[in-house]
Amino acid sequence: MLTERTHKAGELRASHAGTTVTLQGWAARVRDRGGVTFLVLRDRYGTVQVTVDERCADEVREAAKGVRQEYCIQVIGEVVERYKPNTEMATGAVEVIPTALEILSSTRPLPFTLDEHMDAHEETRLRHRFLDLRRPALQNNIILRHKAAIAARKALDALDFLEIETPMLTKATPEGARDYLVPSRVHPGHWYALPQSPQIFKQILMVAGMDRYFQIVRCFRDEDLRADRQPEFTQIDIEMSFCTQDMVLRAAEEVVRAMWGVAGHDVGEIPKLTYAEAMARFGVDAPDMRFGMELVDLTKTLSTSTFPPIQHALEEGGIVKGFVLEGGAEGNSRKVLDAWTEFVRGYGLGGLLWGKVGADGSVSGPFGKVTAEIPNAAEAMGAKPGDLVLVGAGAENPVNAGIGRLRVHVAKEKDLIPAGVFKFCWVVDFPLFEQTDEGAWTPMHHPFTSPKPEHLGHLEDGNLGAILSDAYDMVCNGSELGGGSIRIHREDVQQQIFAALGINEQEQREKFGFLLDALAHGAPPHGGLAFGLDRCVMLLAEATSLRDVIAFPKTARAQDLMCGAPSRVHNEELDELHVKNLDR
Ligand code: ASP
Repeated sequence: MLTERTHKAGELRASHAGTTVTLQGWAARVRDRGGVTFLVLRDRYGTVQVTVDERCADEVREAAKGVRQEYCIQVIGEVVERYKPNTEMATGAVEVIPTALEILSSTRPLPFTLDEHMDAHEETRLRHRFLDLRRPALQNNIILRHKAAIAARKALDALDFLEIETPMLTKATPEGARDYLVPSRVHPGHWYALPQSPQIFKQILMVAGMDRYFQIVRCFRDEDLRADRQPEFTQIDIEMSFCTQDMVLRAAEEVVRAMWGVAGHDVGEIPKLTYAEAMARFGVDAPDMRFGMELVDLTKTLSTSTFPPIQHALEEGGIVKGFVLEGGAEGNSRKVLDAWTEFVRGYGLGGLLWGKVGADGSVSGPFGKVTAEIPNAAEAMGAKPGDLVLVGAGAENPVNAGIGRLRVHVAKEKDLIPAGVFKFCWVVDFPLFEQTDEGAWTPMHHPFTSPKPEHLGHLEDGNLGAILSDAYDMVCNGSELGGGSIRIHREDVQQQIFAALGINEQEQREKFGFLLDALAHGAPPHGGLAFGLDRCVMLLAEATSLRDVIAFPKTARAQDLMCGAPSRVHNEELDELHVKNLDR
């Protein structure tokens, strides 16, 4: 019979000796040693050993024999101090000697064992997520997520932000991904879109005088999933009125401080870099600042080079950039260098100009051809005898991407990144637009981002690439934690931006008419940002996958393997929704 629980398994200590406890949980381990049954009982709060021996009544010993791993059990018994404490267990000073033991439910044969060094295939684990989630490592991640979310809520509440829900069945929002669409039964041929973010609604809440809004909210983006993306993910979404950029950044910092505080980390001062600076020093807009090896621009130093890869790159208006791996002249075989060369080729670079600096300062490898011509080339990078230089030449984007990412790749391979450290930074002053491969202009953030007022003129002279915006990203350990911007709060400027993006008036009305209407009714200056909660918790938990911090994640192919979504539906249901299956 189920009895009220008196204690949590994980809380029992020597001071509980002599107490009678009722515990419920799962048999994490079952060992039978010559008539003595040792059970490890696990609940959310930890584990404790239950020892069934000659001190127990016959029916208890009989019941214990029937217990198998992951059976759900209830134990009533006395806490006693162990003769030989187990220092590996938080409760290792004690054991429970049951006076009653009941199997509350049994289990089918387990598809995998739940120990921490499991090698079960992730697919099997996801299919049986109800078992997988019983593992303490995953439970701790979910607990951390809860604590981080609560901390963020409290921090925002203290700053007068109101938590307001926005619709899930809505209209396409412009975050740049494909929408998940939901057919309307009542309006044949009409569809809702699941929000890619509450962007427009939160801006409208500002026009509506709510002053400060936040929401811990699910967003949906139908993208081809990279390893660390989920089709539905959670944002801590924030917006505020009458704010300067600094006010938004300060509020956001409070949230991060609160979340990191949960795991006992002090965030410290968060430095600010401009986008241009981040690209120059790190080659990427989400720099990992946990280690050095910053990029050096050699374009000027090598301007007279006749070494074909460099001369060619410079003639084409390209750049030359690289970094130094200290002491790297030793211990990096041709094989390693070839692998790094392949790595940068993946980002569109023709090759990697590496050079090993010898004891006498001479340089071997492809970069030796450069120093033969321009003797101070390696020195200009700050290289010393014994170092390795890794250099890329070509168009600006592939050089930055290839060499910037190689910097992190090499640091990881060489174990140069300190563990347990969090290095935050703000990246500000992003370009407003970027050009697609086809030459069209698209917003770098989204089309509601405010251009810097002093750059508004370029909307008229057509120099769109020169316009900087009041957009900002918060970066931690090389990952973007969140981003946002000061918004356009004037209807005419918003229309100008839409026009620059090639969205004609009719399309503007169709897609964003309600936002333009709102902006035309006394919109306050406003701005905000959104954090990716999943990513924040993943970093905090030092997890390697977003799936490890989401209770019911999807696979890289956007499937829920446990419930089997997506799944087929009956044709009758489709008929009702006025939808036809093409492969019917
Ligand atoms: N809605 C934006 C996003 O999801 C964030 C923001 O601008 O506040 O990226």
